[in-house]
Amino acid sequence: MAAIDGLPPLREVITTHGLAAKKSLGQNFLLDLNLTAKIARQAGDLSGCDVLEVGPGPGGLTRGLLSEGARKVLAIEKDSRCLPALAEIAAHYPGRLQVIEGDALEVDPLAHLTPPIRVAANLPYNVGTELLVRWLTPKDWPPFWESLTLMFQREVAERIVATPGSKAYGRLAILCAWRAEAHIAISLPPEAFTPPPKVSSAVVHLTALPEPRYPADPKVLERVVAQAFNQRRKMLRAALKGAAPDIEDRLLASGIKPTDRAETIGLEQFCALARNIAAG
Ligand code: SAM
Repeated sequence: MAAIDGLPPLREVITTHGLAAKKSLGQNFLLDLNLTAKIARQAGDLSGCDVLEVGPGPGGLTRGLLSEGARKVLAIEKDSRCLPALAEIAAHYPGRLQVIEGDALEVDPLAHLTPPIRVAANLPYNVGTELLVRWLTPKDWPPFWESLTLMFQREVAERIVATPGSKAYGRLAILCAWRAEAHIAISLPPEAFTPPPKVSSAVVHLTALPEPRYPADPKVLERVVAQAFNQRRKMLRAALKGAAPDIEDRLLASGIKPTDRAETIGLEQFCALARNIAAG
């Protein structure tokens, strides 16, 4: 029997195309089309948007994005076994799904997309984190995307939305708060996936701010914050020793006590420190 969108149910797609999940590609599939439509709705009104989807796999989220009205979906998938299943979806939604076989860390999708662009993905978490940091740290702002709707391990999602003083606060929270508004949109138990992963997951939705909350060079901010949290238990004058020879003066000039630890420092102060260090 056909599923709600007229295509075969995802379990059948997986059997027909021999898509046994591969651990090496972080494959934990979403097979419930009601759930994938719900995730697609978190991405906002898709009707006038192109959507970049990374890691479509057998196409559960892809189908959600298309049935929720995305103007066009550009999907990048590393596993060639998934291409025939994705071709069936493309045939069902003529002219609205383009698939690129490749590694999302290497493919530049922008030539194929027309703004406004939203991003949606259920990716292995390490690839997702690396892409998130890239999408947040382009030299120029605003970025190519209006929003990012991304699945992460629950623990990573908490690091994205964390505030100063909490254990989860660090590089991800600072980069996200700097240029975006981020919130956890949906929490998912392991059983929502096939096969179930070991831990819970969450969908995080980020909206790009028109301008960063405070000026800073993205690369310098990223480097300073990474260094500060690399030794998060140390006082900043020790953790940032290599950042500049006169780091204590620079910390003071940025409104930071050299004896403070990274997890107590807010975004505004980190941006001030990044500007001070960038000024030479
Ligand atoms: N989106 C599908 C879903 O929700 O059922 C699949 C999710 S599964 C967690 C992750 C998908 O990302 C897999 O299909 C995997 O092959 C693909 N993938 C893993 N690494 C990738 C990469 N570097 N670039 C593109 N796709 C990748």
